[in-house]
Amino acid sequence: MTTAALLPNHLAGQWQTGTGTGAGTPLFDPVLGTELARVSSAGLDLAVGFDFARQQGGRALRALSYGERAGLLAGIVKVLQANRDAYYEIATANSGTTVKDSAVDIDGGIFTLGYYAKQGEALGSARALLDGERIRMGKDPVFQTQHILQPTHGVALFINAFNFPSWGLWEKAAPALLSGVPVIIKPATATAWLTQRMVKDVVDANILPPGALSVVCGSSAGLMDQLQPFDVVSFTGSAETARIIRSHPAVASGSVRCNIEADSLNSALLDPAATPDSEAFQLLVSEVVREMTVKAGQKCTAIRRVFVPRALFDAAAQAIGAKLAKTSVGNPRNETVRMGSLVSQEQKASVLEGITQLRTEAEVLFDGSGAPLVDADPAVAACVAPMLLGSREPAKAKLLHEVEVFGPVATLMACDSIEQAYELIRRGEGSLVCSVYSADPAFIARAALELGSAHGRVHAISPDVAASQTGHGNVMPMSLHGGPGRAGGGEELGGLRALGFYHRRSAVQASSAALDALAASAVALKY
Ligand code: NAP
Repeated sequence: MTTAALLPNHLAGQWQTGTGTGAGTPLFDPVLGTELARVSSAGLDLAVGFDFARQQGGRALRALSYGERAGLLAGIVKVLQANRDAYYEIATANSGTTVKDSAVDIDGGIFTLGYYAKQGEALGSARALLDGERIRMGKDPVFQTQHILQPTHGVALFINAFNFPSWGLWEKAAPALLSGVPVIIKPATATAWLTQRMVKDVVDANILPPGALSVVCGSSAGLMDQLQPFDVVSFTGSAETARIIRSHPAVASGSVRCNIEADSLNSALLDPAATPDSEAFQLLVSEVVREMTVKAGQKCTAIRRVFVPRALFDAAAQAIGAKLAKTSVGNPRNETVRMGSLVSQEQKASVLEGITQLRTEAEVLFDGSGAPLVDADPAVAACVAPMLLGSREPAKAKLLHEVEVFGPVATLMACDSIEQAYELIRRGEGSLVCSVYSADPAFIARAALELGSAHGRVHAISPDVAASQTGHGNVMPMSLHGGPGRAGGGEELGGLRALGFYHRRSAVQASSAALDALAASAVALKY
């Protein structure tokens, strides 16, 4: 068997191929099992690369205004749009996704970049952000405090998960670059190809100053050791790795700012007043099926737990199962396939193991594994059919509220009261998103107040927004993404709120005249 080519890394303003024996880690087509490329970060001088990004990339970016940096983002959008076809091919081959699912990642990333390009344009020629009004320090109004935000003089290290090689890069890089902070991206190995190719296209197009955007593919060894006090690290991945990142000596000793997006047991909640023929019920059924099957359930925001009144449990199981039965699974190159594969055999094994765990506390309400795969060999393809599990006694369950199965799997749960539903939802110990289905604005308002503190986002779907709602699991750049507790405690996006992570807040205590001079090169931050 021939060995696929090594993808070069871009560090210290140069393309560098990892060295060493064994020629790197292979990346596979999860449907066909063929080797696609290899990655290696062995032998890279990380210290030189990080320093180059800090010194060259950071300085060049900070020399520009927000408006000028927004122009760079707009330039990146053009390059990515020009190369979209190649990205779709890579996604099909390396992630096993259907065209629709690839779009969530690829076009979602481009859309987010475009959004921040527009937001940044509005900040114009400013070089700092004013945070709030001036505050008097005493009786004499001449001496005042003005809080300002300035870009940190370090690098932003992104360690990303395998499920969004495009969006995962750009949703972080857009606010970082707009802030004036250089980026070093380390994609998850299994799907690193798309990230590497996008960075290559942007670097080759000479849009950004040298050192502004670097990519390191392969092992993460040594990356965290490079972090210094003004750097930031943003991690997306499992809770287990998150613990390593958070407790890394460089983070602890240098107070390196750390953003974590980790596992999440997201919920969907049906209004107890709903009936099987109500619109709220139908909307919940459709959304649950969509969330279970988009990207084969490999979305951190996907619905994992579905809470319905006990009287509607059987009706919900039947309706969800009937829709899932229409989901053809297999090779995404076949146009009749609605759901592609998981990203790797490792993920398939992990999902099957997770299902086994959940089944110790749940019954199987729907199992799509009886249907044959379309155009795919079950012995080779990392395909897993959708499965709906159910629990009529979710209060007695433990694993159902703890184990995140990162695939096309959700558990339906019967509740006896809305208070019990809230209590069970909170057993997820902090999630990215909860969606609420109701035709009653007062119910939605109460649910949002009950659930807000445990979720980064509450997504309410009522009949009047059925056509315009953006989807439980879709992360929109204008809304916060992240979640408390188990979800990592991080915050991303949320419009210009995202810039906060890449800026340092400082209180300037000075005369009104000095603050006037300061304000001349700054713009008031308005969300
Ligand atoms: P993972 O195994 O934790 O890997 C995530 C990233 O960390 C990868 O780039 C990985 O590199 C790297 N990594 C592994 N060990 C490391 C170490 N000791 N030091 C530094 N980096 C290290 O997670 P995953 O399996 O790829 O992702 C799936 C999980 O991500 C799911 O649990 C999902 O909930 C979560 N997720 C969360 C969000 C969110 O926004 N909250 C979004 C997507 C996914 P290698 O690939 O080279 O090992």
